[in-house]
Amino acid sequence: MSNEKTEDIAALCSDYQMDTYARTATLVRGKGSRVFAENGMQYLDFTSGISVVNLGHAHPAVVEAIKGQAEQLVHSSNLFYNEPVGRLAKKLSQVGLGGKCFLANSGAEANEAMIKLVRLWGSANGGRYEVVCMRNSFHGRTLATLSATGQSKVQKGFDPLMPGFAFATFNDLESVKAAVTDKTAAVLIECVQGEGGCIPAAEEFVQGVRALCDEKGILMLCDEIQCGMGRTGKMWAFEHYGVKPDAFTAAKSLGGGLPLGALIASPALSGVFTPGSHGSTFGGNPVACAASLAVFKVYDEEKIVDHAAEYGELFRKGLEAFVEKYDQVLEVRGKGLLLGLVLKDPDAQKVQDELRNGGLLACVAGPHVVRFLPPLNMSEDDLEEALEMIGDTLDIVYGEEE
Ligand SMILES: *Cc1c(COP(=O)(O)O)cnc(C)c1O
Repeated sequence: MSNEKTEDIAALCSDYQMDTYARTATLVRGKGSRVFAENGMQYLDFTSGISVVNLGHAHPAVVEAIKGQAEQLVHSSNLFYNEPVGRLAKKLSQVGLGGKCFLANSGAEANEAMIKLVRLWGSANGGRYEVVCMRNSFHGRTLATLSATGQSKVQKGFDPLMPGFAFATFNDLESVKAAVTDKTAAVLIECVQGEGGCIPAAEEFVQGVRALCDEKGILMLCDEIQCGMGRTGKMWAFEHYGVKPDAFTAAKSLGGGLPLGALIASPALSGVFTPGSHGSTFGGNPVACAASLAVFKVYDEEKIVDHAAEYGELFRKGLEAFVEKYDQVLEVRGKGLLLGLVLKDPDAQKVQDELRNGGLLACVAGPHVVRFLPPLNMSEDDLEEALEMIGDTLDIVYGEEE
């Protein structure tokens, strides 16, 4: 394929699409853990589209479900019932909190729905409205969700932010206690902060937040958009802590690559929304729901969550060898297959670029963390190949050491 064509596509994207991302390779096709670029380059994809294609690219069961539903009914609006949405809602209740869900099209929208649910619940429960969020968190890019995000780089320039959010320090229970007032309706956490740098919550912290919420009669909320769907070796990251939130959100890999988000609530919160209180034209799109059902079926049949737990351990061990070998690699952080290589210097971007040059796609999570989000069904060969490429790259960036 000609180089000229590659440049044309990149130029089209950068000339006519707003400059919100620093894009690199031009991809044309994906299969399993591989993606193929227009210039003939092949990559091992350890981004999984930022934890979206957790079963790899073009999984046959997901492709089949999408094709089948596309021929049946692509869209019907939420004025009518349809089969995939009903079946998926039941599945989410079974794997979730035993209550009902609201289906949206993205993570930010699922979090928006959760924030609106909290406001509605709070207005009927003593006029509470505030959500205590964590510093260094990430909850999305809409005005409400960026206001809930504890990172100034996401908020800068967008003042005035949405009121009704207070901030506490992640993994510091005392700071959460101090932030709770008689206006507090909920506490929102990621059990593993993804964008924030692959930082797992401490057990005492999550359990302490649960106990605090129970004591104060307020809601515990989890954002499982990145750390959920088996990514950390349990279906939901909160399962590592032996607690259940009152509501949580899922998105990213929920739709197997199609846009889909969900607010998943406990039975006690399942009746807060009533006709007219929230909605979405596309939310619960039948094709996305059919894809999601196929995802859950493959998870069950191929024991994907157990595989993620097992490979998370293997990958971590492999990465830990680099901590031993290089002074500049400080630690391996995260849970399951949401792992970050923490660097002493702000070299994450440089390492990510070198990895890509060598054939491995990875993410960054801030200037010091290279973040790996491999497909949950990765093979032993994928694992070995990735570790070899990471080793070669660290040699290039930090030089061979004795
Ligand atoms: C990606 C992400 C979001 C936002 O999801 P979008 O689909 O991009 O709106 C929210 N929370 C967390 C934890 C995420 O990783």
